[in-house]
Amino acid sequence: MRIAFLGLGIMGRPMAANLVKAGHDVAVWNRSAGKTVDGARVAATPAEAARDAEVVWICVSDTKAVESVLFGAEGVEATIASGATIVDSSTISPSAERKFAEKFAAKGVHYVDAPVTGSKVAAESGSLIFMAGGDEETLAKLDPLFKALGKQVFHMGEASKGQAVKIAMNLQIAMIYEGFAEALTLATKLGVNVDRMLQLIQASMVKSGVVEYKAPFILKRDFTPNFPLRLMLKDIHLALDAAKEVRVKLPGLETVEEVYEMASEDGHQDLDYAATLTLLEKWAGVEVKGAA
Ligand code: NAP
Repeated sequence: MRIAFLGLGIMGRPMAANLVKAGHDVAVWNRSAGKTVDGARVAATPAEAARDAEVVWICVSDTKAVESVLFGAEGVEATIASGATIVDSSTISPSAERKFAEKFAAKGVHYVDAPVTGSKVAAESGSLIFMAGGDEETLAKLDPLFKALGKQVFHMGEASKGQAVKIAMNLQIAMIYEGFAEALTLATKLGVNVDRMLQLIQASMVKSGVVEYKAPFILKRDFTPNFPLRLMLKDIHLALDAAKEVRVKLPGLETVEEVYEMASEDGHQDLDYAATLTLLEKWAGVEVKGAA
């Protein structure tokens, strides 16, 4: 298939590389020059990349970035052909995504939102999980591309439902992790052996994928970004904004947002979101330590 891939960040670059590896004809574009993918043509603008493309796949930071790639000067809108498909794997506002999809539907362009779960490692190994919104027929046509990039696609309903569930998923990750970080901080202050406590967690109903994934990094004090704090904060804002739009109150997440804001003020925005722990440690005057 002829694919335009827009956005070569932590996630986009390995995704575009996997589409090339699967034998597709890929043109790539990135806002800042210099990012490339072996075997893919480099386009000068989103409009140039989207010309003649059957599928335009986007993976950029946030709602504004997607809007500018689609509708900005030299955006996708200028050249995309009727009958082509846009897939957005960025995590953005569900209500904005719905409006983007409606604008393109009026031009005969199919639109799918397909945000992902799984970080850089899953993007590289082609084992992402997609949460997709769009019509069945379009998703079926995209199946070979989803197979090249990921291991599972959860069809959640019409365009924008992928985003809706994605922010509900990240709400849980942020809050489960915050619970774990607060428990580690309190237990350390009370003199508990953290390694022993982790064994207890694993043996009890408190165990979780989030804890299992993050614990080894914490014990090594490795806060290099698998998922940067700034992006988790962006997703917390997306969830709080979406909640406001539909008049839902999320008091737990509102508090977690404050912790993330303060961690950003402490200069941790480019570290992994696990670094919110360091703020709790600072307040408590302790450092969580394991034998590892
Ligand atoms: P990233 O490494 O920060 O890359 C962001 C990309 O967006 C870069 O290519 C950047 O271009 C581009 N961009 C930013 N603002 C733009 C604008 N105004 N116009 C055009 N392009 C713009 O982010 P990432 O980790 O790849 O994440 C991409 C998306 O996937 C985000 O929505 C994120 O929430 C989501 N996601 C990430 C992960 C993860 O583990 N990293 C996991 C699941 C979902 P430049 O190179 O010019 O800055």
